[in-house]
Order: sequence, then C-alpha cells, then structure tokens
Amino acid sequence: MASPLRVNTAELLRRPGSEKTVDAVVTPADLHLLDERFDSSSPARVQLHLESLTDGVVVRGTVEIDWHGLCRRCASPAAGHLLCDVHELYQQVVTDPEAFELVGEQLDLAPMVREVIVLDAPLAPLCRPDCAGLCPQCGVDRNVEQCSCTTAEADPRWAALEQFKQSFET
Ligand SMILES: [Zn+2]
Ligand SMILES: [Zn+2]
Repeated sequence: MASPLRVNTAELLRRPGSEKTVDAVVTPADLHLLDERFDSSSPARVQLHLESLTDGVVVRGTVEIDWHGLCRRCASPAAGHLLCDVHELYQQVVTDPEAFELVGEQLDLAPMVREVIVLDAPLAPLCRPDCAGLCPQCGVDRNVEQCSCTTAEADPRWAALEQFKQSFET
C-alpha cells in the first residue's frame, strides 16, 4: 500500500500556488520511528497543507502523537501528548539552509514528520510537573510518603576536612 505521506509533486510544481492537503494517521513503524517513547498503540495524526512555489513546496500543519516513558524523578510511568507545529520548505535546488531537498517527483514527508516528533519529544519526562521524586538517601517515593532523611547533600569540601581531622585523631 502506498504511504499516505508520499505526495506526487509533479502537478503541484507545474503550477505555483497549487495546494494539496495531507490528513493521515500513521504508526511509528510507518514513520520508521524507532524510539521507545512511541509505541504502536499510539499512532500519529498528520495534518499538513502543501503549497507549491516556483522552485519548491511549503509544508505547514501539525503532527500529534502520544508518548510514554518513565518519570525522570520517580521512575513511575509518565505519558503525554505532543502537538508539533510544522513549517517546512522543500526545494528542488536547496538555497535555504533549513530546507529539505526535493528529489524527483515523489515527496516523502515521513522523514520530516519523524524528525519533528523526535525534536519535540520530552528529554526529561515527568509523571506530573511537580513530581517530588525519590529520596536520594533512602529511595522512598516522596510523592507517596515522607521520610526523615535530611535532604542536605554532603559538601565534598567538608568531607575532605573531616578526613583531615580524622588523620590527626588516630
Ligand atoms: Zn514522577
Ligand atoms: Zn529518605
């Protein structure tokens, strides 16, 4: 089956100002998105509007997808929804450093969609914005219970001084 993200650009480029709409639901596998934050249970909704120029195609729209991961602070499951804005330029002869190259008459939007998703995906996911995380000393989940650990971290300079003092005491 032909990918819904493959667009024939011949007719678009024949008349500058021609438009085309792409509205598709694709899986991470369709996008060759090999990233554990996105699994097959959460397809991406791709809604793009293409408009041709004399030497290229402007692509605008949105890409939406759910992500899953582990909270960086407490390691419990975290999930969220991405809404990525797309505004890209494809050129037959690339003169804009930000542009993608338009090769032949088939424009495959999948690599760009994949890139947009990866760039917008959270690097440090949190289960909720105010997650209190785990106690670095006893490991208790501070969202659930309180521990009596003092949270002040040992200053390495004091530790060195402590060692220095001990060397005199022995
Ligand atoms: Zn958390
Ligand atoms: Zn603790």
